[in-house]
Amino acid sequence: MLFENITMSDFKKGLKKTKTLIIPFGTVEEHGSHLPLSTDTMQVYEVVKEAAKRVSVFVAPPIHYGVLTSTRNHAGSIGVSANTLRMLTRDIIKSAYHKGLRNFILISGHAGNIHMSALREVGEELIDEIDDVKIAVISEYDMIRKESDKFVETKDDGHAGEIETSRLLYLAPHLVKGRAKEEYPKLPKPFLVRDKVKYWKGGVWGNPVKATREKGKKLFLFSVDRVVEIVKKIEKIK
Ligand SMILES: [Zn+2]
Repeated sequence: MLFENITMSDFKKGLKKTKTLIIPFGTVEEHGSHLPLSTDTMQVYEVVKEAAKRVSVFVAPPIHYGVLTSTRNHAGSIGVSANTLRMLTRDIIKSAYHKGLRNFILISGHAGNIHMSALREVGEELIDEIDDVKIAVISEYDMIRKESDKFVETKDDGHAGEIETSRLLYLAPHLVKGRAKEEYPKLPKPFLVRDKVKYWKGGVWGNPVKATREKGKKLFLFSVDRVVEIVKKIEKIK
């Protein structure tokens, strides 16, 4: 039951079947010279929409903006602060709670540390504040990582590389503009640098050249199954 399609009456009827809401999180973020800025949002939202066909669950429209760190100086990257993300997430959960929803699955197509911490922080606060709320926080990318290790050829594939390019080739091949070349960021850790583009020109972490539609399909279906499992679990967990 996608919020973007259902009516007030559908919502009321739906509450008799489930009190679980999935909130997908994405970004507007550079994904190399070959993938769209909405790559993270698209990956997670398509998975969640497919899962919602297989199990009774409400799905909120995706939050398109996230917290960007290493990509934030690149062209096209438009981020928000962790504070904004925390406040927005908190407001959405509280409002949905007042409408009768009790279980919240926050699933993000963007796996950045600060971004994920912001979501976890809000979740931890809310479970302390509200007795009968249940919250799961998931980085979709990390959730599929073990599975992807079985057939993805690039060892250190992280951003706009083999994995994400494969996934977009499956979901929206018309939006994939060729393939950027293999690249890895050379950020001088542990230092925080102002001009990140200088150390990471192409904005790719991994090897897009190894991407195939078939790999993308496998990862998509694997992810859908995991989300369905999590929906079933959250209703039972104490
Ligand atoms: Zn991404």
